Amino acid sequence: MSNRLEQPRRGMLLVISSPSGAGKSSLSRRLVQDNDRLVLSVSATTRGPRPGEVDGREYAFVTPARFKTLVADNAFLEWAEVHEQAYGSPRAPIMEHLEAGRDVLFDIDWQGAQSIAKAEPDDTVRVFILPPSLGDLAKRLRARAQDSEAVIERRLGRALGEIDHWREYDYVLVNDDFEETYTRLAAIYAAEGLKRRRNLWIEPLVARLVAEG
Ligand code: 5GP
Repeated sequence: MSNRLEQPRRGMLLVISSPSGAGKSSLSRRLVQDNDRLVLSVSATTRGPRPGEVDGREYAFVTPARFKTLVADNAFLEWAEVHEQAYGSPRAPIMEHLEAGRDVLFDIDWQGAQSIAKAEPDDTVRVFILPPSLGDLAKRLRARAQDSEAVIERRLGRALGEIDHWREYDYVLVNDDFEETYTRLAAIYAAEGLKRRRNLWIEPLVARLVAEG
């Protein structure tokens, strides 16, 4: 009931981070598919599209010059450099979604998670996805076969640096089984949506109950 869009609930910013290859993107996509109220924030990036990626769907692919202009225009709620490329979460669509009572999911790194939690401390929920082992992470990165071996090696090297930030998150899930991890993530989202302070409709309901009594 709390996740029905018609209930005037305060929108939440659900931030999911993990090292590349831990399954964060698949989990995020599925959660958005299963919840009408939840939309994915599409970031802008200076990196080039991987095979199968579509401009405006996975990312808005922009030139470094364009990215710089967007930063100067304060067009990002947060932005950061990851793997020598710039990534940013566009502010305007996020604000529109929140005002419409929708929740926004961010598939971003620990720097972005920190910035968003600092900007919106009451409305941010942070979830970190851990791989069961580094060997498993390497296997998933290679299976994806979208990046060159050198890029994969670099990403693996960075994974430990990213994992180092796990304490900054409200929830930490180990993705050893996709379905189980997804069930846990969906439970987190549902419970966070039921929090009293997000459910503005309870106050008038209680006022009505009191008036009836
Ligand atoms: P990839 O190039 O593999 O799609 O993403 C690399 C990393 O950048 C991932 O950890 C991803 O979550 C992060 N990322 C993607 N978009 C953003 C963003 O807008 N802001 C920040 N801070 N990180 C992002």
